[in-house]
Amino acid sequence: MYPSLHERYGLSRVINAAGTYTPLGVSRSSDAVAQATVAALGDFFVIDELQEAADRALARHSGAEAGAVTHCVAAAITQAVAAAMAGSDPERVAALPDATGMPDRVVIPAGHAVDYGHPILTDIRLAGATPVVAGTERGCSLAEIDSALAQRGIACLLLVSSRLTRGQAVDLAEAVAAAHRHGVPAIVDGAAQDLRMRELLATGADLVVFSAHKYLASPTAGLIVGSRALVQACRAQERGIARAMKATKEAIVGVLAALEERERLDLPQWRASQRVKVANFIGQASAIPGVRATEVPDPAGMPFSRVCLEIVPSGRGWNAEALVAGLAAGDPSIRTMDRAAGQGRLHLELVPLSEDELQAILDRIATLARELGAAG
Ligand SMILES: *Cc1c(COP(=O)(O)O)cnc(C)c1O
Repeated sequence: MYPSLHERYGLSRVINAAGTYTPLGVSRSSDAVAQATVAALGDFFVIDELQEAADRALARHSGAEAGAVTHCVAAAITQAVAAAMAGSDPERVAALPDATGMPDRVVIPAGHAVDYGHPILTDIRLAGATPVVAGTERGCSLAEIDSALAQRGIACLLLVSSRLTRGQAVDLAEAVAAAHRHGVPAIVDGAAQDLRMRELLATGADLVVFSAHKYLASPTAGLIVGSRALVQACRAQERGIARAMKATKEAIVGVLAALEERERLDLPQWRASQRVKVANFIGQASAIPGVRATEVPDPAGMPFSRVCLEIVPSGRGWNAEALVAGLAAGDPSIRTMDRAAGQGRLHLELVPLSEDELQAILDRIATLARELGAAG
C-alpha cells in the first residue's frame, strides 16, 4: 500500500518477536482492516451511530449487554473508574477529576498494581480517584479485599488479568463477588486477552476492558464490554475527562472490521497453525549450537505458546544477553522478550510473524552463535 515508510522517514526495520508491545507498534492489521480504516478516514459519520454499531458488534461478540470503543485501554480504565464514581450524571461528569461528594476510592490488589509502560494506578488517579492497594506483592487474600472494600467512599474494585500481575493469583470471580457484596462494581483489565472475552465476563465483572490493537489487530483502540448502564456511563465521560480519550472514527471502523474478521476465524485451525509454527521453529533452533529451545504456554492463558531459548554460555561471549543485543543491533532489528536474559533465557512470540521473518530470525541466531563462539 505504502511500502517505503521505513526508507522515506529513515526508520529502523523491525521483526517483532516481543509480543503485542506498545513501543514497537503492537500488532499488524490485516489488509481488510487497513482498507476499512482508510475508507473511514476519507468520510464523515455520525459518531454516535458508529459507536452504536460497535455496541451491537461487541455485545454479539462478547455476550455482554453492551460495548463501547475508547482510545485505548489506559483510557478505558480511567473512563470505567470515572463511570463508577459519577455514573452518567452530567454535573458529576463535568466536575471530574474533582471528585468532591463522590465515592472516590478504588480497591486494587497489590499484585495487580502493574506497570505496563506506566503505572496502572495513574489510570485510577487520572479519573480523580485514589487507589486503595490491598494485600502485598506476594498475595492478596479475599479477606484483605473484603476489608479494603468495607472502607468508606469505595467506588469500585479494579482487577487485572495479565501476565504482568505478581504474587499468588487472585480468584477473579470470588473478588468480583466480594465487590458485589459491598454494593460496588468490579472492573477487569483484560488488555491483551481479547480471545478470553467470554471467560473474563463469566467472572461476573461489570465491565471488562481490552486493547483492540493487541491480538485483535485493529487500529489503536480500547474496548469496553459489560452492563449497559455502566458502558453508557463510560461514554458519558466524553463530555468530561474523556474528551482526551475518545475513539477516532477510523479506529471504530477498524474495530468493526477486525471483529468481523475474528468472527470468521476458524479458531481450532488457527491454533493448529500456531502450534506448527512453534514446533518448526523449535526444531530448527534446537539444531543451533549453544541453544536449547522449548515451548512454553502463554502465561496469561491465551491459546498459543511462546518459544523459550535457553542459551548455554560458552565462556567466549555467547550468552543470552549477547544474543538479545546482537539480534536487536541488526537490520532488520529483531526484538525479543528479554526479561529473563540475566537468567540465560529469552522468549519469542511468533504469532504475527511470516515464514520469511521466522527464517530470518533463525539465520541470525545461527550467525551470532558462530560469531560469538557458541560451543557445539
Ligand atoms: C497493554 C496493557 C494495557 C494498556 O493498553 P493500551 O490499550 O495500550 O492502553 C493495560 N493493561 C495491561 C495489563 C496491558 O497489558
